[in-house]
Amino acid sequence: MTLALNGHAVARGIAIGRCHQAERNEIEIGEYRIGPDEVDNEIKRYRKAVDSARDQLMELADRIKMTVAVPASEIIQTHILMLGDSTIRQNTEERIRREQCNAEWALQTQLEQVLSEFRNMDDDYIRTRGEDVTQVVRLLQSKLSDETASKPGYSIPDRLADTLVIASELTPGELAILHERGVAGIVTEHGGPHSHTAILAGSFGIPAVMGVRHAQGLLMEGEILVLDGGLGVVYADPDEAIRKHYQQVQRDTKSFRLSLEAVREEPATSIDGSAISLQANAERREELEQARDLHASGVGLYRTEFLYLRGEPPDEDSQFAEYSGAIRMLNGIPLTIRTLDLGADKSTDSLDFSQLRHGTNPALGLRAIRLCLRETDLFKIQLRAILRASVDGPVRCLIPMLTTAREIIMVRSLFEEAKKELDQRDQPYDPMLPVGGMIEVPAAAMALKELGRHLDFISVGTNDLLQYTLAADRVDEQVAHLYDPQHPGFVRLLRYIFREADSLGIPAGVCGEVAGDWRYTRLLLALGLREFSMPPSRILEVKQVVRKTHIPKLVAAFEAWIHSPGDDTDMSLLQILDESQLKN
Ligand code: PEP
Ligand code: MG
Repeated sequence: MTLALNGHAVARGIAIGRCHQAERNEIEIGEYRIGPDEVDNEIKRYRKAVDSARDQLMELADRIKMTVAVPASEIIQTHILMLGDSTIRQNTEERIRREQCNAEWALQTQLEQVLSEFRNMDDDYIRTRGEDVTQVVRLLQSKLSDETASKPGYSIPDRLADTLVIASELTPGELAILHERGVAGIVTEHGGPHSHTAILAGSFGIPAVMGVRHAQGLLMEGEILVLDGGLGVVYADPDEAIRKHYQQVQRDTKSFRLSLEAVREEPATSIDGSAISLQANAERREELEQARDLHASGVGLYRTEFLYLRGEPPDEDSQFAEYSGAIRMLNGIPLTIRTLDLGADKSTDSLDFSQLRHGTNPALGLRAIRLCLRETDLFKIQLRAILRASVDGPVRCLIPMLTTAREIIMVRSLFEEAKKELDQRDQPYDPMLPVGGMIEVPAAAMALKELGRHLDFISVGTNDLLQYTLAADRVDEQVAHLYDPQHPGFVRLLRYIFREADSLGIPAGVCGEVAGDWRYTRLLLALGLREFSMPPSRILEVKQVVRKTHIPKLVAAFEAWIHSPGDDTDMSLLQILDESQLKN
């Protein structure tokens, strides 16, 4: 009989194959006391384990870099950084000294303290990072236990083709090994949709469902499983109908991918001849190269938070080097650099802003431009770096989370100060550098008349605009059902924004996730959008829809809906728009 289990949908795709239970070789973490004269040796033993863990992770990061064009190796780099981070390294050594205990035990008690501090923080990002700390500590403990000859980690077969691996949890390193061995799909009992292992599964293209309760107890070794990574469902012993359905979905996906290749070199032009600008959201080298190779008409969103998450805040020269390197890589297509957008779900330990995490409602707190206008010295370093890079190729600057016209006036005046400082140093810049604003706050959308006068362009950040318009936290899966771009209130707000921008003569784009989701391409075209920015991996999918769309027919159907929604049909808005393409 078919058994269906639910979990978090973390990586799209269908996997069909046999179940393999990955049994973890548990390491016994015992506590024993050491004498004062043994402390130095114990610390040496601990440091040797750190070195060996680092070597293992570095070797893995290099191997990954060679096999896939994804930011995967950077995820492993995060774990390498954690090995040297004082939270683990220094505190564990101090514990060994202070408590005169073995290294494994010092690590264990340190881990428990860090996790209990994280649990008290009302921040999804931080909680997820707790998984990373746990994984790094487990690796170190396994290295320490290597010496005492017990076997660490999972026993994993060499070949995993047509095999779905079921595990309690997986580290990014373990997932990378499964990938190398050709695993078809992944099911884990623990791990959230924002964990690094989840992100990595998406990058590798391994269909994955995580957080499936009791998966190890309920699924049986060798039985046939069907996994739907988009829905977050695993079927054990599926009946004929389910199997046939998913085999068909697999075939359709394959031919869809092939059909995408056919549009690679074609222009993004609709049937009626409208040229649509498809840009990329890119920041890593691989993404920038992909954007260029896919003929994106620009990079519409270059997030800069990653520069600040590496350790110390980056100085002007190192930021300039990053921006200018990105510009050169793009070979003449414009780069839209978004200024620092930290806060809410994107916190950082590298900057000493304790207030970032302590607000009771961080998404409504001191984030993005609000934070930058308070920390103007830090912000001006970034503005100068952007200005300096603007002589190396076409650059635009984008300001996140604007709420009031006053904020953009302050930004403009800081830009003028930054220009004067560069003049004094005789450093060149583009005096006409366009400055645009992200529309992510509903009040800013409704006040476009006031804000627009100070902006050269706008880019709608639908990820945040949706969460603020629908009062549904973007990282809380309990309210994910409300986070719906088809909500009539949201659709009307977007319509207002594009119409207003048009009448003010300001170019308008969208760089939130909906711009890269082909299911919403027609809706956005109907609303008047002509500039889409999305992860490079989505460009061909969206281009495919654009090329099959007749925009005037779409607009007619949409305007009919907006004036009398739900009149004579119970079809969804997206269905109505698709139907409009079939009519003469
Ligand atoms: C958005 O909010 O839509 C956006 C693109 O910004 P981020 O996802 O970085 O908040
Ligand atoms: Mg945003």
